[in-house]
Amino acid sequence: MAGEKLHEYDAIVVGSGPGGSTVARELSRNGKKTLVLERGKDIQKLGSYMTALRVLDMNPSREGLPMLRASITGGASVFYSASAADPPPWLATRYGIDLSPWLEEIKRETKAGVLPENLLGKASIKVMETANKLGYHWEPMAKFLDPAKYTRGYCCGADTHLGCKCGAKWTAREYLKDAVSAGAQLLVETECEQVIVENGAAVGVRVRTSDGRKKEFRAERIILSAGGLSTPLLLMRAGIDTVGDGCFSDPTVVVYGQAPFEGTWADPPVSVVTWEFYDSDGIRLGVIMEPKWLFALNLIKRSPRNLPLAFNYRKMVGILVKVKDDLSGRVYPDGSVSKGLGEQEWARLNKGIGVAKEILRAVGCPERTLIVSEAKGAHPSGTCRIGHAVTKDLETGIKNLYACDASVFPEALDRPTVLTILGLGKRLSRHILAAGDRNSASVSRV
Ligand SMILES: Cc1cc2nc3c(=O)[nH]c(=O)nc-3n(C[C@H](O)[C@H](O)[C@H](O)COP(=O)(O)OP(=O)(O)OC[C@H]3O[C@@H](n4cnc5c(N)ncnc54)[C@H](O)[C@@H]3O)c2cc1C
Repeated sequence: MAGEKLHEYDAIVVGSGPGGSTVARELSRNGKKTLVLERGKDIQKLGSYMTALRVLDMNPSREGLPMLRASITGGASVFYSASAADPPPWLATRYGIDLSPWLEEIKRETKAGVLPENLLGKASIKVMETANKLGYHWEPMAKFLDPAKYTRGYCCGADTHLGCKCGAKWTAREYLKDAVSAGAQLLVETECEQVIVENGAAVGVRVRTSDGRKKEFRAERIILSAGGLSTPLLLMRAGIDTVGDGCFSDPTVVVYGQAPFEGTWADPPVSVVTWEFYDSDGIRLGVIMEPKWLFALNLIKRSPRNLPLAFNYRKMVGILVKVKDDLSGRVYPDGSVSKGLGEQEWARLNKGIGVAKEILRAVGCPERTLIVSEAKGAHPSGTCRIGHAVTKDLETGIKNLYACDASVFPEALDRPTVLTILGLGKRLSRHILAAGDRNSASVSRV
């Protein structure tokens, strides 16, 4: 580009969410000159509505389903519920992608694990015990939460969805920090607009900086980790036409009820869950609560008559219902998204809502206080699927161009995504490092 200096890197990583931060960390720690491009800011003041509203994008699909994503260093992990679920077994059996070699390492690095019982949250324990008395099978969920970092003896509770203030929640920012310490260069407020392809191979990217300037950076390999709704756009612009279709989103509703005891606002989010409907019906339930004013907004959206419940926020108990959806969605070249919920998804949601209401009634929530939130798509993914748009080594049809984020899931994960994405990031990094070693071995032989 006229007047701009060209930079040379071993790898350029686009996006600093769980996928991008993992790859950047592994490559830079292994001596690769790595550039990370992040279109969001590196905001340090977390935990405020102002920050969350500035960087969280809840734009609805054409059918009206809000699709959540975040533009900030660390991506959506800054606002996630920090549930840590192992990758689904079918990833290894059906697709030959075995992430088990990296899971222990990731859990050690992120401190992921089940919280001790005294930190699960009193209301959450009550819901779990009541559900189990009714004959359900609830249990504690592994979390990316490190109790050793609790500054006030407890975590941020529901407010962790505004960004964790106390620092106990692991986010992809920690891997990103490691990457930068190992020498990676991070450019924030820098949006990748286009992958540069020459002679069938990716050789660099064109970006736009916050002041509107255009720049080019060149590298041997480009890794797109811009998330389930942005990575397909970049691949479409690069000329790949097998992307964009097949979007799934793990549709979610929350069922609330007003309890005769202190509710779930101070509990770690989703510290107790049930998987018992997972295999048979594709449904998961867990205890959750949203930050106060987001909760109030949600209630009023359903009906202004719900407003009085917002004043009883501290008594409210929430049960999250998440279901497996089909591949019906699509990302279009203009960035708009089509994703609706069909009969099957609603049947699943309604079954989960029925179970949640039964449990809320049993903990003592009066019928008139039971409210169901609108449905949201919390994990937009599957738009550049393994076996369809990328190989099982996450390489696209363009040489030296890879995708590593939620977009590559070959089927709806229907479970917390982050542990799987971190595993994919570690696996891809090993693949890239091994390919680099093979190249240098062949160069030295010549
Ligand atoms: C409310 C909520 C709760 C959740 N709870 C959980 C949970 O408990 N456990 C769990 O495992 N998962 C959870 N998830 C899902 C999880 O957070 C996401 O699936 C995960 O963060 C996706 O990671 P990713 O690497 O695909 O990219 P993302 O996290 O989407 O990050 C992509 C990054 O790329 C940047 N970017 C995009 N386009 C460009 C561009 N063109 N140029 C430069 N940068 C770009 C974005 O700004 C962003 O920072 C939750 C999600 C939400 C919204």
